[in-house]
Amino acid sequence: MKTSFSLNVLLRDNIKKLVPYSSARDEFKGEASVLLDANENAFGSPYAKNYNRYPDPLQHRVKEKLRLIKGVPEENIFLGNGSDEAIDILFRAFCEPGRDNVILVPPTYGMYEVSANINNVAYKKINLTADYQLDLEGIASAIDAHTKLIFICSPNNPTGNSIHRQDIETILVNFDGIVVVDEAYINFAKQASFTSDLGEFPNLVVLQTLSKAWGLAALRLGMAFASKDIITVFNKIKPPYNINQATQDIVLEALDGVDIVNEWIKEVVKEREKLAESLLTMPQVVHVTPSDANFILVKLEEPRALYDFLVDRGIIVRDRSKVELCEGCLRLTIGTPQENNLLLKSMREFYEDQTQRRM
Ligand SMILES: *Cc1c(COP(=O)(O)O)cnc(C)c1O
Repeated sequence: MKTSFSLNVLLRDNIKKLVPYSSARDEFKGEASVLLDANENAFGSPYAKNYNRYPDPLQHRVKEKLRLIKGVPEENIFLGNGSDEAIDILFRAFCEPGRDNVILVPPTYGMYEVSANINNVAYKKINLTADYQLDLEGIASAIDAHTKLIFICSPNNPTGNSIHRQDIETILVNFDGIVVVDEAYINFAKQASFTSDLGEFPNLVVLQTLSKAWGLAALRLGMAFASKDIITVFNKIKPPYNINQATQDIVLEALDGVDIVNEWIKEVVKEREKLAESLLTMPQVVHVTPSDANFILVKLEEPRALYDFLVDRGIIVRDRSKVELCEGCLRLTIGTPQENNLLLKSMREFYEDQTQRRM
């Protein structure tokens, strides 16, 4: 159990002093039949029934289901308008613009840097090692008195590998700021989630999302799991009605589909391994990074030419070939078996054409 941690020392002064917005329904709890407190339209739209009232600001029913699925108490769950909202709130809670800094470990998810820039917060980049693991010494020497957050994405986007658990624990133990472990792809990994370690590490924030394995990217629902005190801070800062009623309604139904989600995950993992194997048979494939996610980072001799060829055929992949440590790489999301086969077929055609052109 980590004891060298003080949330109060880390928080910005304005957040410590903040009196949060008190919504219409915060002051009254119970059953009411006449609601004349929130300036809503009492008739309700005939075209969108049951959407005339403000939604539950703390999304109790959704969290109740998530508690059962994730094994995390409701008081340790925050729901955001995508994980991106949780990332932004971390900056606003902990980082004084122009003074504090955060540590990023690229190549990794781009939103940490964007969110830092939006909030005018400095970042120090400590590249991952050649095998896409944490440079613990580099991170240790980058930490200073104003370092508030370290972002670790595991499995990492865009590389797909998991970060060694032991290394993340080392940082959790030794760093007295907040360690954010972004587990957007955890459902596809063999590794256990860090959500079971919340009791041990008061400085841990785990991010997950319904956008990937759950197939609900359009609904915008991200989750943050952390100590009760950190979740209280998140709830103070967020817009009162950040998760709209339509999202809450649909998510509530979709969360009953754990079985089908688990089937999809198995299928995606199977397809991932098949795709990796097929890619490795192609002479133009230089390297395939073993993936714990629903995508594969593949290093190719001429990534951009292949990328353009695929685009012409209506197949869009992610060009990461100019990203430091991902030179020459494309990131391929695992699709349906048909889509994956079409991708492979198109790649083979591209390489056959290319061979012919060179003869
Ligand atoms: C896709 C992704 C997310 C998801 O963000 P949402 O805002 O919840 O859709 C978060 N983190 C990483 C690393 C991702 O790749």
